[in-house]
Amino acid sequence: MPGEQSKKLYEEALNLFPGGVNSPIRAAVKPYPFYVAKAEGPYLYTVDGERLIDYVLAYGPMFLGHKHPQVMEAVKKQLENGWLYGTPGELEIELAKKILKYYHPGGMVRFVNTGTEATMAAIRLARGYTGRKYIIKFNGCYHGAHDTVLVGAGSAAAEYGVPSSLGVPEEIAKLTLVARYNDLESVERIMKRHGDQVAAIIVEPVAGNAGVIPPKPGFLKGLRELADRYGALLIMDEVITGFRLGLGGAQEYYGVRGDLTTLGKIVGGGFPIGVVAGPREIMEKLTPSGKVFNAGTFNAHPVTMAAGLATIEVLETGEPYRVAREAASKLVKVVEDLISRYDIKATVNYVENMFQVFFVDGEVASPDDAMKSNRELYNKLHMELLKRGVFIAPSQMEAVFTSAAHSVEVVEETIRALEEAFKRLRE
Ligand code: PLP
Repeated sequence: MPGEQSKKLYEEALNLFPGGVNSPIRAAVKPYPFYVAKAEGPYLYTVDGERLIDYVLAYGPMFLGHKHPQVMEAVKKQLENGWLYGTPGELEIELAKKILKYYHPGGMVRFVNTGTEATMAAIRLARGYTGRKYIIKFNGCYHGAHDTVLVGAGSAAAEYGVPSSLGVPEEIAKLTLVARYNDLESVERIMKRHGDQVAAIIVEPVAGNAGVIPPKPGFLKGLRELADRYGALLIMDEVITGFRLGLGGAQEYYGVRGDLTTLGKIVGGGFPIGVVAGPREIMEKLTPSGKVFNAGTFNAHPVTMAAGLATIEVLETGEPYRVAREAASKLVKVVEDLISRYDIKATVNYVENMFQVFFVDGEVASPDDAMKSNRELYNKLHMELLKRGVFIAPSQMEAVFTSAAHSVEVVEETIRALEEAFKRLRE
């Protein structure tokens, strides 16, 4: 549990940062966030002297675990050569080739600095390429913090989105049409009315910002077909799933290809990154070869390029996927056993190395289903685990991630904490 030193720092932070933090989810750990002094492998070490097994992994990027030696070495080597040039460096070519090999052979890449920037650029590119204005997104999917995607469903009858943040003008939100995840009919209905003005459908192939919600069989393929039928682009937002569900991400895993791919998180090896990738014909519309504007002082940052490249090289051994999958499958089985042992109404959604437990009666196939989960019980699970040195996502709407550092011993320790925590859930 967060201790006195964390408390002191948080009290100071409350005077410096809105809500005491620099990204809202960080304030979800109650009564105040723990402050981290250092991290290594599967562990976070807090300023209060605690060691936590980390299943949040910085909300996804740290798939190799913290402070991986190969990534560290690559970063150090880059630092020796300086760390920002404002002119191209060789590593961006190497990293782009790796990304294209797995996502868009023969295509092109634009490096930016966050997943937010990647989806913003991809959406502008889709609009510029098609000459159309509407975007279709799914209610409960998250694509970053820019205006076009900070939009949720309005009333059940209206497909026009409504702002999900103050400061997003209604006029902008109206250009985002909101469909329901895992519901192809909701997309088709929108396409029938606005299809000739839809520039792109943007989707998280596995909804990872509403817990974990895998696509139903046929959903992604159906999106591909609808996009093709109406001449819209399909943007696969693989900021979470890219390099997580395998080297080729969700598109390889489910066998459905997008026209554009957005990546982030893992591909930067723990340093800030966003990627837009796609076929040359579309990508060349970006500045300076085309007229869709994109630029960035830090784009293709040399340190990020080095860390990303080293990360992919480790991933290519296949070992990280094996370890992370084994850890997740064991933990999911234990959680399912505990749910049935204590006769708790709950279900676990699971893909490869990401999962989430929902305290609901029945399946969770959409973000709307996820909203029905008993959040109090989830928060209690989170707290009881934290007391026992295990850090899972502090919100029901995030995923539990495993990594290459979650060895058999680490998982065994987690299982003991889970058993104790579930016992307390009944109290
Ligand atoms: N897209 C998805 C699917 C995400 O999960 C996120 C972040 O969690 C983003 C985009 C935004 O990425 P970033 O936080 O790097 O801006």
